[in-house]
Amino acid sequence: MTGDCYSCREEGNLTTASLAERLHLTDHWRTAHAFNSSLPGWLVVIPRRHVTSIAELTPAEAAELGPLVHRLSTALHEVVRCEKTYVMQFAEAEGFGHVHFHLVPRMPDLPPEHRGPRVFHYLTRPESEWLTTDQREEVAGAIADRLRTD
Ligand SMILES: [Zn+2]
Repeated sequence: MTGDCYSCREEGNLTTASLAERLHLTDHWRTAHAFNSSLPGWLVVIPRRHVTSIAELTPAEAAELGPLVHRLSTALHEVVRCEKTYVMQFAEAEGFGHVHFHLVPRMPDLPPEHRGPRVFHYLTRPESEWLTTDQREEVAGAIADRLRTD
């Protein structure tokens, strides 16, 4: 853990975290709803220890990831009715070097100019356009419920 790592700080605050910050926890991964998204259902899948490259993952961490991405994608299809999901991992922003996979619902009506990597449009909007805390909690709760009934 490093003091300036956003993901490690969140991991350390799980007992008081909102559901959106810990909507699904496994042995090695925490799934959160992105706090700065203007698109409902933008999930972030984060290893529960500090790693800065995918190559640093242990075999056990790696083995959990594929099935988890599949389960979360299935839940997103049912909850937000997306057509498919996008998966991206960069970990390049200052303070966000901790590995994190963006799992993004690609909605049927997503404008062509925001498809593919340009979907980050929805993560770079002014704060006034972010989902509210209540909206994030609602979609996080629906996804968590869906995962419990798998
Ligand atoms: Zn970290």
